[in-house]
Amino acid sequence: MIIILTGAPGAGKGTQADLLADKLGFKKVSTGDALRRHIKEGTAVGKRAQSYMSEGKLVPDEVLLGILQSELESAQGKPVLLDGYPRNVAQAKALQEIVGPQGISGVFHLDLDKSLLVERISGRRTCINCGASYHLLTSPTKVEGFCDRCGSEVVQRPDDHEDKVRVRLEVYSKETSPILDFYKDLGLYHCIDGSQSTEKVYDSLAAQLRSLA
Ligand code: AMP
Repeated sequence: MIIILTGAPGAGKGTQADLLADKLGFKKVSTGDALRRHIKEGTAVGKRAQSYMSEGKLVPDEVLLGILQSELESAQGKPVLLDGYPRNVAQAKALQEIVGPQGISGVFHLDLDKSLLVERISGRRTCINCGASYHLLTSPTKVEGFCDRCGSEVVQRPDDHEDKVRVRLEVYSKETSPILDFYKDLGLYHCIDGSQSTEKVYDSLAAQLRSLA
């Protein structure tokens, strides 16, 4: 089973993917996390991806395809939750090729207003080690500046700075949002009100996922 979580930057995809992985046993496949790991480890993929990511732009499709394939292989039969892939129609088509016409069980769009997105991203803080995500006001760390999960430092992601966020939102509306129609046409699209609390969004996602199983 493959489920896609989609939505603009700041919509809460990563937070919901973590919850669904913890509580429902999904394997979370976050292409953003995988790319950040490559950058941290200084791999060739990381070196290629770095400038695109720091500018808030999409990393070329062929780089992502390699990442996606190895992440899907490592899922070893577990249900997979895709967070951050696909990010354009070409990637959506490539995914269809890999998993086949019945491979995707549902696409869940966390939908919310642009003003809320900016507010959420500007307060977001991310663990430099495990990638756990916090918010200065709505979900702060227990000890200021340090991750609850692994104790490492929690910082603002370079691409979460305001100028980069503007670019990322533009990229989302031009390149990523057309995938919504692509999945509507395939009858796989579900819309979730992403402005609700984390718990409410989780409850509606989990209920809809159970009905698909
Ligand atoms: P995320 O953590 O999902 O917000 O992704 C952070 C950044 O990684 C994005 O702004 C892109 O530069 C890059 N990225 C992640 N996933 C993809 C993808 N599927 N296609 C292209 N670039 C991606």
